[in-house]
Amino acid sequence: MSAPLRVAIVGAGPAGFYAAGDLLKAGDGSVEVDLFDRLPTPYGLVRAGVAPDHPNIKVVTKVYEKTAAKPGFRYHGNVEIGRDITPAELREHFHAVLYTVGAPNDRKLGIPGEDLPGSLGAADFVGWYNGHPDFRDLDPDLSGERAVVVGAGNVALDCARMLGVPVAELQSTDTADHALAALAASSIREVVILARRGPLQGAYTNPELLELGEIEGLDVIVDADDVRLDDAHRALLETADKTTRRNVEIVTDYAGRVPTGASRRIVLKFFSSPVEILGEDRVEGVRIVRNELVQNEDGSFSARPTEVTETIEAGLVLRSIGYLGAPLDGVPFDERRGTIRNVDGRVTEEDGTVVPGVYTAGWVKRGPSGVIGTNKKCAQETVRELRADAEAGLLADPPKGAAELDALLAERAPDRIDYAAWGRIDAHEVAAGEPAGRPRVKLVDIDEMVGVSRS
Ligand SMILES: Cc1cc2nc3c(=O)[nH]c(=O)nc-3n(C[C@H](O)[C@H](O)[C@H](O)COP(=O)(O)OP(=O)(O)OC[C@H]3O[C@@H](n4cnc5c(N)ncnc54)[C@H](O)[C@@H]3O)c2cc1C
Repeated sequence: MSAPLRVAIVGAGPAGFYAAGDLLKAGDGSVEVDLFDRLPTPYGLVRAGVAPDHPNIKVVTKVYEKTAAKPGFRYHGNVEIGRDITPAELREHFHAVLYTVGAPNDRKLGIPGEDLPGSLGAADFVGWYNGHPDFRDLDPDLSGERAVVVGAGNVALDCARMLGVPVAELQSTDTADHALAALAASSIREVVILARRGPLQGAYTNPELLELGEIEGLDVIVDADDVRLDDAHRALLETADKTTRRNVEIVTDYAGRVPTGASRRIVLKFFSSPVEILGEDRVEGVRIVRNELVQNEDGSFSARPTEVTETIEAGLVLRSIGYLGAPLDGVPFDERRGTIRNVDGRVTEEDGTVVPGVYTAGWVKRGPSGVIGTNKKCAQETVRELRADAEAGLLADPPKGAAELDALLAERAPDRIDYAAWGRIDAHEVAAGEPAGRPRVKLVDIDEMVGVSRS
């Protein structure tokens, strides 16, 4: 194999940056990394997913900035693989291609009424308040008094909190301006979170759950009956992990609180699943069923619907039951799991045959779980396999090199944003935020970003 080792990474989220950092760690020019993203802006869900009122989480981008400063690193923003350059074309220019494209799609509920206006996926809603260019025109209808969020993970809690928190608390954040304006005019006074199972099965973590109870002028409502544990669950709690035990304590505390009569409420409703989204031309309500829990052979509990149903009036329904990856032409994909087929990051065909020189990391490799740091270990595992293949002589020299790639990019992606150009967008956003004490005012239009990057 000729030196340097040339690697393309597709997707500039945490997994992409951790993979790049690991590949470039020797700093001796033995590896070159070209990192592509379909957006002009890097950092994936750190920019477009993490809640705007959690700015400390975003400090992790300082680590990615250090990676970008390493010799051998090149950033190509505003270049979409599959649209501007095909995976097959990319492969011709590199020894290896590593896909870290994340999991941008929402899992669907598969119930009637799901496609009515007013029924949205959390990914879209989160993208909207975070200024992701794809969702800036989402315009969710916040004119009803009640919203329902389906799901019991941190993303569901983020959505509920963004709808429930007084907008004044968001004015100092980088919430997209269009979302700030819409949330200021919102009529939503109650957000109902539907959790399919019980307090021991919540997928959220302690700080996010606690945060709900700390929102100014908002009552958190939990039905006392829902936190009364049966014998099986009491036994389960004894051996449960720390997070679960604390989660149960927190919801038990919520159930014991006397509502203050605040003008806003978040209702955490356990043992409840939506069975139909109701409405003529748009969402008017949700029919839900009460579940009972049945223990599986492995000791876990599944929800089983009972005969008890109820209708909740609502003008907005957000489904937050998991994210799925999107397939790329020519890259083996497992539709059911929503991930690129792989073994430890080496991409494989359905029959397990390794696709030489193609790798994956992050959410599209292992599914949408874990925190930002989980992607570091995940990316390192993949890079370990890639290096082993390079050392074993399994990576063929690409027929084309950097000069041919530049020519292809000039032709297909004339509005490509390099890292210096992103730096100008970044500086513009940060400067725009300064007068109001905000970390930044996000640009949400790609043409505008390109314009600013050239100024
Ligand atoms: C709403 C939400 C809130 C979260 N909050 C937290 C939190 O507070 N703390 C925490 O630790 N974790 C949080 N997470 C989890 C964390 O964001 C993920 O673990 C992490 O972002 C996954 O990294 P990734 O690189 O696999 O994917 P992503 O971050 O999604 O990055 C994928 C990148 O690939 C790009 N891309 C996609 N397709 C293409 C293509 N065809 N061509 C080129 N580029 C492409 C995308 O534009 C994107 O930049 C949150 C997740 C969500 C959804």
